[in-house]
Amino acid sequence: MNALLSMAVASVLLVASMKTTAQTGSGEWHASLADVRATAALIPGRRPLRINVVKFAESRRTKNFSVSGAPADPSVQARTAFQVVFADGQVMVDTGMDEQVHRFFGRGVEEPYDRDNAAQVERALTSARLIVVTHEHGDHVAGVVHSPRAAALAPKTMLTRSQLQTLIASPQMPEIKMTDELAARFIVMDYDRYFPAASGMVLIKAPGHTPGSQMVYVALDSGREYLLIGDVAWHMDGVRLVKTKNAPWITEDQTALTAQLTWLNQLSRSDPRLVIVASHDDEQRLELVRTGMLGGRFE
Ligand SMILES: [Zn+2]
Repeated sequence: MNALLSMAVASVLLVASMKTTAQTGSGEWHASLADVRATAALIPGRRPLRINVVKFAESRRTKNFSVSGAPADPSVQARTAFQVVFADGQVMVDTGMDEQVHRFFGRGVEEPYDRDNAAQVERALTSARLIVVTHEHGDHVAGVVHSPRAAALAPKTMLTRSQLQTLIASPQMPEIKMTDELAARFIVMDYDRYFPAASGMVLIKAPGHTPGSQMVYVALDSGREYLLIGDVAWHMDGVRLVKTKNAPWITEDQTALTAQLTWLNQLSRSDPRLVIVASHDDEQRLELVRTGMLGGRFE
């Protein structure tokens, strides 16, 4: 075993032995940015160059659902997917969804769906080297699970055991119910706290919004760092104010989410250059694209 690999294995074992309580029942959820950064260095290779975001649909809900205590003002929730671009390929974070799943979310109300951008997401999935998802809800997984190309995309899509279990046993909607035949085609893995997904890329286990939720840390070659938090908060005010959602149609682990929001809030102050990105915050998406922190198209 070469020195680099044995160091990597030793670090993984150390991290695994030090942190056993958080996701196994006892104790509150916690994470350490220092440990995440160390995990991001385990897989050799050049780090990613940039991250792109595409909005393929919108949901129109008043803000009080996204941030409890906020006024019931009209607000736009973006539905998005992310593309992490490496020098020699790209990794997708979340997969978009087709119009049938979009209509499920609309509950009979017409909401915007952008077919051109949805097609961009589809092309990016086709060319991706690897696909991961922040969690097992339809607007994040249907682009693979409910796609006519599911069988071809599954072998490069990495799901956690927990995400797969939910898709099999209690999918958010019938369209994303996983069959045994399809399930057998995915890369399925499990981890306790942090998982090195690629050079500079780490999955952070964060059950709460769903059992299979995880955040995705990305450190670029330039040194800039991002944390794609999925649906831990629907709007960044949730992080700024440490406020959970107030949406009666979802069931979340409030204790875990409060711990996650508290951690993110602390990070936003201790490491202000770390870019914390909420999947559905449309105001934040526009600002990050405007300032060049995220690209606004897939490549
Ligand atoms: Zn979502």
